[in-house]
Amino acid sequence: MALIPRRLVMTRAGCFYCDADDDIRICLINHLFGLKACYKHFNNAERDCNAYMHENNMVKIEDGLMNENVKKFFEILGENFRVLRSNGQINENWKLCKNTYTERYHIQKVEGMWAFPITDDYYSKMMPFRYYLKKELGYVSEKLEEIIKNIEEDFDKGLYIDYYKSQPKPEEVDDHSKIKQIFMSNGEEINIIKVFDSTK
Ligand SMILES: [Zn+2]
Repeated sequence: MALIPRRLVMTRAGCFYCDADDDIRICLINHLFGLKACYKHFNNAERDCNAYMHENNMVKIEDGLMNENVKKFFEILGENFRVLRSNGQINENWKLCKNTYTERYHIQKVEGMWAFPITDDYYSKMMPFRYYLKKELGYVSEKLEEIIKNIEEDFDKGLYIDYYKSQPKPEEVDDHSKIKQIFMSNGEEINIIKVFDSTK
C-alpha cells in the first residue's frame, strides 16, 4: 500500500499503514506534514514521502546538500553569500536556511528553475541557482556555469527517482491535503509567502 503524505494534525494515533499503535515514528516532509508509521512500515513511509517530493519537484535541504554538484556550488559561494538588492547595492550576509523544529526547508523547482532557500535572519526567499551567474555578484566563471548545469540535470532527473519508481499505485487515498508553498516573484528573486495550505 502506498499513501500520500498529509497534514498530521488531528489524524489517528496509529500507523497509517496497519493501525498498529506501538513504536510509532513520523516521517516528515514539513512541520506536521508527512506520514506516521510503525517500525515495520517506516520504510514505506520514507518511500512514499520521497516519491511525493519527487512528484512535486522538491528535495529536502539535507538531501540536496549531499549532492556533489551542490557541494561544489556552496564551496564557491561560501557560508555567507551575496544578494543584489533592488537599489543595486550588494548584501553580503545571506546564508542557507537551516531546518528548525517548525520549519523544514527544501530545494525546489520554482517557476521552472531549481532554487534554494536563503535568509538574512530577517527575510527568507528562494533563490535560483542560476541567479549566481549574474556578473555583478562576482561569482561567475566557466566552472560555476558547468556546476549549475550539472545541478539542474541532477535535480531534473530527480534525487528520489528510485523511490518514485518503486512506488506502487496508491490503493488508498483518504486525504487530499496538499503542502503548498506560495511564491511571489519579481523576475529573479522568489519570496516565500506561505508554507501550508490546509484548506483541503
Ligand atoms: Zn504499520
